[in-house]
Amino acid sequence: MIPAAGQAAKLPGLVDSHCHLDFSDFDGRIDAVREEMRAHGVTHALCISVNLRDLPKVLRLAEHYENFFASVGVHPDHEEQAAIAEDELVKLAQHPKVVAIGETGLDYYRLKGDLEWQRQRFRAHIRAARRCRKPLVIHTREAAEDTLRIMREEGAAEAGGVLHCFTESQEMADAAIEMGFYISFSGIVTFKNALALKQVARRVPLERLLVETDSPYLAPVPFRGKTNQPAWVRYVAEEVARLREIPLEQLAAATTGNFFRLFRPPGRS
Ligand SMILES: [Zn+2]
Ligand SMILES: [Zn+2]
Repeated sequence: MIPAAGQAAKLPGLVDSHCHLDFSDFDGRIDAVREEMRAHGVTHALCISVNLRDLPKVLRLAEHYENFFASVGVHPDHEEQAAIAEDELVKLAQHPKVVAIGETGLDYYRLKGDLEWQRQRFRAHIRAARRCRKPLVIHTREAAEDTLRIMREEGAAEAGGVLHCFTESQEMADAAIEMGFYISFSGIVTFKNALALKQVARRVPLERLLVETDSPYLAPVPFRGKTNQPAWVRYVAEEVARLREIPLEQLAAATTGNFFRLFRPPGRS
């Protein structure tokens, strides 16, 4: 249900910590997306880069809108850009609205075969994050063991960051939290069959929780299957609050505080 505009001021401020507004799904729709954000009490969004080709579009969004931020990185599914240089990442991260390195990580679900290039690229992102002192946005799918091993070997704890769109086990969440990382939940946590994940969402410490949409993917219930948008992080937050038996206001205040503490965006230090 979409509240009337007059109610928006009363809603707790939420942040979408992970979305892809540069994707063509949103061409010509950014004003509408922003209007929906306002109507749902979503105050900020972090626009996540997945390859260098589209990075200028991500940066333009963050330059144009005060409440949008950007990350710099190459997604593990983008094999064609295997040899991204650590130096290049560090240089690109100097942009004033870039608050994170990623998304990076390992994905053994989408791609098969020899994925050593994925691991090398993940290492380059971690080294870049340490050098420019920006947190990591990590994508991990069916690669828990290698993800944690490489995070340890490369000293990812020094940069910190988030495991985004978390769908892994409690053990993996605990290991990442121990390294100082945050855990971000997406619309998947609203899916009826995601019972194990709901359990993890109950147990992650409130001070390490983030919420996201991963728009245009993974629309939460009751919009499952539709093109997702940052406004709908509200439904993710409502479900996590319900699972933890706390008011939405408390969940919103905690996750928004966590977001600003982790990413330290300009003007909010
Ligand atoms: Zn991802
Ligand atoms: Zn993503």
